[in-house]
Amino acid sequence: MRIDIITVLPELLQNFTQESIVGRAQRKGLVEIHVHNLRDYSTDKWRRVDDYPFGGFAGMVMQCEPIDRCISKLMAERKYDEIIFTTPDGEQFDQPMANTLSLAENLIILCGHYKGIDYRIREHLITKEVSIGDYVLTGGELAAAVMTDAIVRIVPGVIGDEQSALSDSFQDNLLAAPVYTRPAEYKGWKVPDVLLSGHEAKIKEWELNQSYERTKRLRPDLLEKK
Ligand code: SAM
Repeated sequence: MRIDIITVLPELLQNFTQESIVGRAQRKGLVEIHVHNLRDYSTDKWRRVDDYPFGGFAGMVMQCEPIDRCISKLMAERKYDEIIFTTPDGEQFDQPMANTLSLAENLIILCGHYKGIDYRIREHLITKEVSIGDYVLTGGELAAAVMTDAIVRIVPGVIGDEQSALSDSFQDNLLAAPVYTRPAEYKGWKVPDVLLSGHEAKIKEWELNQSYERTKRLRPDLLEKK
C-alpha cells in the first residue's frame, strides 16, 4: 500500500512517518508513505500557495494550481483508489472507513490549511472528504496522521498477533475488554481471578461479556449497528 500526503508543513509529519507502527510497516516493506511539500508545486517566486478569498471574506484560501499540479503529477504515475481531502465538513472517519481504506493500493491525502482549499479542487479532483471529528484543527496534518495510523495498523502483517487488531474496540461494533499485566496484585488491586485460571474457554467468555457490558454502558449506540 502507498499513501501520498500533500501538505504545506511536511516537517510536522516527518517523525510520525518514521516512528512506531507506521515506521515499522515501511521498514518491513508493507507500506510506503510519501510526504509532498505543496510549496514545491508553486510557480510563485515566494513559493506561495494561498491567496485572498473572492468576496472579501476573512482569511486565506489555498489556490487551485499547486494542488492540481501535485495531484496531477501523482495521478500520471499510478492509479489512486481515493483522493482524500481532510475537512471538518467531511464524512466522519471511523473504524469501518479505516478497514475499507486499508484494502486500497494507493491513496492521496490532501491536508488543508488557512480557511481551506479553493472549492473547485473539491468539485473536480477530490473523491472523498473526511473529518476526524466535530472540531476545527489548524491544518489537516494531524487528521492525515490519525487516518494513516488507523489504516496502516490493520494492513495485514503490520502488527503481530500479540497486538491483534481484531480484539481492539470498534471491530465488530464492540468496545475492547479490559487488559491487565503482572503483578497479579498491586497495592491490593487484584486482577480478575478468571484471567489467572488458565481456562481458555472461560477467559474467552469473560472477554466477550466484558466487551458487551462495557459497550452497553459506554457506547450503547454501537450495539444498534450490530
Ligand atoms: N474553514 C474551514 C471550515 O470551517 O470548514 C476550516 C478550515 S481549518 C482552519 C484548516 C484545515 O484544517 C482544513 O482545510 C482541513 O484540512 C483541516 N481540518 C480542520 N479540522 C479538521 C477536522 N475536524 N477533520 C479533518 N481535517 C480538519
